[in-house]
Formats: sequence, structure tokens, C-alpha cells
Amino acid sequence: MGRTFINAGWPYLYDVPGLHNCVPMLFADVYARFHRLGGDEVFFLSGGDEHGSRVEFVARGLRRHPQGLVDEKYAATVPLLEAMGISLDTFARTTDPRHGRFVGEYLARLFERGLVRWRDFDIPYCARCAKHLPDRFVQGRCPHCGDVTYGGQCNNKKTCGRVIASLRDGRCAVCGGGVEFRGRAHLSFPTGPYRPAILPQLRSSKELGPEVLRRVEETFRDVPEAALTRDTPWGIRFPIQDDPGRTVYSWADSLLAKVTFAPEAFWRDPDARRLFFLGMDGVPFYGVLLPSLLLASEEGYSVSNWTLLPNAVLIYEGGVCSKSTGTGIWLQEALSVLEGDLWRFHIYHTYAHAERHADFRWERFAQAVNEELIGGLEGNLARAALEASPGPADTVRLDGVRSLLLGLETAAAFTAVMDLVRDPAASRATLLEATSLLSCFLPRIAARARLRLLGSAVRVFEGGPLSHRALRARYQALVDERRDRLSLEEDITGLRADSLCVCPIDLKEQ
Ligand SMILES: [Zn+2]
Ligand SMILES: [Zn+2]
Repeated sequence: MGRTFINAGWPYLYDVPGLHNCVPMLFADVYARFHRLGGDEVFFLSGGDEHGSRVEFVARGLRRHPQGLVDEKYAATVPLLEAMGISLDTFARTTDPRHGRFVGEYLARLFERGLVRWRDFDIPYCARCAKHLPDRFVQGRCPHCGDVTYGGQCNNKKTCGRVIASLRDGRCAVCGGGVEFRGRAHLSFPTGPYRPAILPQLRSSKELGPEVLRRVEETFRDVPEAALTRDTPWGIRFPIQDDPGRTVYSWADSLLAKVTFAPEAFWRDPDARRLFFLGMDGVPFYGVLLPSLLLASEEGYSVSNWTLLPNAVLIYEGGVCSKSTGTGIWLQEALSVLEGDLWRFHIYHTYAHAERHADFRWERFAQAVNEELIGGLEGNLARAALEASPGPADTVRLDGVRSLLLGLETAAAFTAVMDLVRDPAASRATLLEATSLLSCFLPRIAARARLRLLGSAVRVFEGGPLSHRALRARYQALVDERRDRLSLEEDITGLRADSLCVCPIDLKEQ
């Protein structure tokens, strides 16, 4: 019996979620299910960064209050995650007042102990908008790679993604005007003192890749002091010097949500395992800022057994799905066409076959489902269900799958379990255990498979083999129906920032 804390990233709530956005969540879900199966105490958390500066930016563009926007997106997101079978314990909302109090008090304690202090930062300011420009509100070039990006963090996630203290050639993302720099006092938090405690913890994680370590060390160099407040009314106020125009940096806010929303034992138990599934752009925050904030608190929060698993979500972003072209596998439509488990199958199957750069093809997807699941699995279950005297379970191969899962080798574990459930020589006892492991990947399909093995007449797949032409046509018709909405959302996510107006939103009034 052990404790495992699992966190998975989810994109900003106003995005139209695509299947590619689910990748960290789907990888995390395998381990939440696997550790629960083994009797571990698991807490599986995800959530929305509802105070993100992009939320405020979009809300202004839409002339809406950000709270209304995030409420709407939350209501739309939860059923999608349920349909995908994501077994979250909590989907945290950073606008929850309980969390606001927790963050305020947390930072106040650090302030009282002198670990955070006011310091002047040069902040870009737009005279035309009469506004200081936090992260998403300023556009320019990354000082490290030269790419065009917004402030805060470089948008070039593949080769850079570094945290940016100050942009080159910055201009206002709202009106396009030039910026000047004005000194503003913000709460500053030096992370350097925690480096000697954090790096050895990360290095001791077998699963942590060299690229992750490199980015962690780079972040300690790039931003030795993190500014924990921003010039925006949309966020959590700092209780010691309450100023309606200056609120807690949304990354600090959303990182601390991992503590607010999880039972304390998962942070205090030094033996608990902590797994973070995220995109590579999350590494500076989960590898540096969160553990530094936890260590600074001296509340007994442990940063041991800390593993960052930036999975292939980025590669997907560059490949299959793109909001800018309006094409991709969008969750809402995808789930109207096929059950969530078949989309889960697609993701694990794709990574298991190292097709990371492959474009999604309906034909290939339908073929894999037809061959491996409908033909391979269903046929094999029918055979085993009739087995007169069940042979012993193949413990060697079953333990092989378990040890791959313990080593977080998702793709190899998926291949091994699929091979096992389709093996015509596997006994019913083996298949019963194998389908239990399969439930980590394909929970609903595995549940029906087990019923079948236990003698029920239930079919694992209704309707027989998939026709890729029919599927594609149904999916495309649904997407076309929603095309107008998709393009609207595309406009507001900032690619046409110059068309946005500044509209004064009184954030005190809802
Ligand atoms: Zn860059
Ligand atoms: Zn401006």
C-alpha cells in the first residue's frame, strides 16, 4: 500500500478541446487506475487555470466578465472528461473562494518570514491603453530564440518554451502600440535557495528525461527571482497589501491549487509518489516554482519521489490538430461519433506504434480498431468463454505488464496487454487478469470483456467493424455544423489581437 498523487495538465478552459489536449490526461489516467487496482491510495487531480491572463484577454475581447466565461467552459468540459473515462478525483477551479483564501494566507506567511518581498520590476506599459501589460497582453520576440511570442513564456514550445523576464521589441497585444517600461513593485520570490534541495530529488527519478533536467536548470538560471504578482484585477488578491489592480501570478495560483484541492497526506507523506503529466512548457513551473513554494512554506510538504512526465502532447500540436486550420479531432464531435474508449485506444495505439508524427487517418484508425479490438479481442473472448477447464494464469506475462506500468512505460505496457488479450493461446484465467489490466487503458471495453468472459452474452462491440468512410462523413458533418463557433473561438484566442478592442470591464461587478 502506498500513496500516489497524480496531476494532469488541461489547456485553458476556453479552448475548443481536441483529442490532442487529452494526451496528458489519458496517460495520467492509466496510472490512476493502475495504482487503485493495486490497492494504493490515489489522488488524481486536474483543473483549470481560470485566472490565466489569456482568460482575461479573451474575456475583454468578448466584452464579457471572465467569471462567466470560465463558468461556461467548466460546464462544457466536465461531461467531455467523463465521456473520455478520465477518473479524476477532482477537477480544481482556481476561482473557488476556498482556494483564494488558501493562496492569500500561504503567500502572506512567506511574506511575514521575509521569503517574498516587494521589489521593483520593469513592467511593459501601454500609454494608449493606460495599462500595465502582464503576460498575454504584450507581444514581441523571445530574447532566447527570437520567435514571436507573448510575454511570460516563449510560445515556441518545441525548441524553446523558456520563461521570459522581458521581451524584445515588445508591443501592446491589445492595441498594437509601442510599450514603455515602468517600475512597478511586485512580490518577488527567489527560487535559488531551493535549488540544492530540488535538483537531487529530480535527478533521483529514473523516469525523468535529460531534457527535463536541462529545462529545470535553465529556469533556475533564467529566473532566479519569480515575480508572484501581476498588474491585473483578474486574480487572487494579496491580503497584506490589498490592491485591486495587482493580483497573484496565475501560475503561482494554479500551482498551489495542487495543495488546496488534494488531501494533506499526499503532500506530507515523504514516501508518496508524485507524478505530473504535462506538456514540456509546464516544466519550469512544476520543476522549479511549485517545489520551491512548497519548501519555502516549511509546512512539512514533501518534494520527494517527484516525477515530471512531459509527454508527446507537443508533437501532436504540431501534427494532427490545429485550431488555426480548423481541422482536427475535436472532442465534442468525436464523442458523438464513437465512444470514448475507442478514442483512448487511438491515443495509446498511436504512441505504442511510435507514430508520434503521424497524421490522423480515419482509414488507419478504423483498421486498427477492426483488427485489434473487434476482430482480435472480441473473437478471442468468445473462444475463451467456451473453454471447458480453464488453465492457469500466465503470471509471467501478466507480471511483465505490471512491471512496465510500474516503470511508467505506457506504450510498451499497452502493447504487451493488447498482445495478451488477443493471444489465442491465453487461458480464460489469464484473460480475466489481462482484461483487468486492460481496464487501465480502456475501462469500458475491459468491463464488457470481463462480463463476456464470465459468461454474459454481452457484446464488447455493438454494430460490428467500423467503416472509415461512414465515420469520417458523420464526424465531418458535425464539425461543419459547428464551424461558425469554432472560427469565433479561433478569433478570440488572440491570433488576431489587433482586432480586439479595449473594453473596460469592472471586475468587481459580476
Ligand atoms: Zn523562445
Ligand atoms: Zn495598448
